[in-house]
Amino acid sequence: MDIVIIGAGLSGLTAAVTLQNAGACVQVVEADAQIGGRIRALRQPVTNRVLADLGPTWVWPKHQPVVARWLEILGLKTFEQFNQGDAVILGYGPTPQRQPLPGQDGIARIVGGPTALIDTLARRVGDANIRTSTPVTGISEDGPKHLSVHIGSGEIITAQKVIVSVPLRVAATTMLLPWAPKALLDAMRGTPTWMSTHAKAVALYERPFWRDAGLSGRVASRIGPLVEVHDHSGVDGTPAALFGFVGWPPQQRRNDPEGLRQAILDQLLECFGKAAASPLELVVQDWALNLRTVTNLDLSRDADHPDVGASLLRQAHLDGRVQFAVSEASDLSPGLIEGALAMGERAALEVLGTSL
Ligand SMILES: Cc1cc2nc3c(=O)[nH]c(=O)nc-3n(C[C@H](O)[C@H](O)[C@H](O)COP(=O)(O)OP(=O)(O)OC[C@H]3O[C@@H](n4cnc5c(N)ncnc54)[C@H](O)[C@@H]3O)c2cc1C
Repeated sequence: MDIVIIGAGLSGLTAAVTLQNAGACVQVVEADAQIGGRIRALRQPVTNRVLADLGPTWVWPKHQPVVARWLEILGLKTFEQFNQGDAVILGYGPTPQRQPLPGQDGIARIVGGPTALIDTLARRVGDANIRTSTPVTGISEDGPKHLSVHIGSGEIITAQKVIVSVPLRVAATTMLLPWAPKALLDAMRGTPTWMSTHAKAVALYERPFWRDAGLSGRVASRIGPLVEVHDHSGVDGTPAALFGFVGWPPQQRRNDPEGLRQAILDQLLECFGKAAASPLELVVQDWALNLRTVTNLDLSRDADHPDVGASLLRQAHLDGRVQFAVSEASDLSPGLIEGALAMGERAALEVLGTSL
């Protein structure tokens, strides 16, 4: 095998397509049973239609040139985040208040959700080149020309080059990397994984009934449990949905998942009336429970939006044979979808730049 890419999230799949386009032979190995990493969708079980995003939702193509370019390459379209009407403001007075809240300039949603990026990239990479349920436990040198990628089952895959497309803290704490200098391991451990401690709630409805009442679907709350809510309906209003970020800390969510669901329904009732209390479906996606994304280091302290990390994370290691490609390693939009696309592409080009 020429190049093994560890991790089938957005960065890893972007690297794979870029390498394949240049004629390289790649194999992507993914620990999880499904691909996509932090990009995940709630799907209709029979038709597989994407109903809602359980990971990221927004892109800003007007301000993100790499996102704009990859949307074009992959033939994907965007639409505006719905924000017409009043928001509901909670916790700033004795009762909920209504007022318009300005949207962000250029904020957009991808038709089909960010999962459309994953599905389109994965189709191009090809099923035969992606192995799921294949957790990597370490990378070691196997002479001057080869690397050994160790799999949990005991299998070893030999590669000339490896791209590590795994959250940096997860890689530093779960993989044996005997060749990695302390400064690199410190930089990896020092890089929080963006949104890894967060949880997202999605409520699906028959119709976006809040729009009839002149409400935008937005909530800003000081009391929670959802601290922000947004209209999450499809491009033509179907499927109708709201999503919110959960304000309860990870431990409280873990201790009382049923209490959280009830508190969310109570809050939706208070903000949007009776119809909101009986969604067709309410799904809480808790990323703090996903050990492919979060580590104890992330859980020990809430992270701000990531700064640009150490340049060591963007350099080649082991004589140009190992590169990192995960969103947080990027010097452009680290932590975001744009960072993942930029870093996947950059790592692939670096690998191509050094002879195989
Ligand atoms: C709730 C939430 C909301 C977000 N909202 C936004 C948003 O609105 N806009 C935006 O731009 N960004 C947002 N983000 C961030 C965005 O999702 C990430 O930047 C992007 O998905 C990162 O992709 P990645 O490929 O770099 O990493 P990941 O998606 O983390 O992919 C890493 C992959 O490595 C795999 N892996 C881990 N360990 C191993 C191992 N040992 N062996 C093999 N594989 C392994 C994982 O399973 C995973 O598939 C959000 C994230 C979350 C969680």
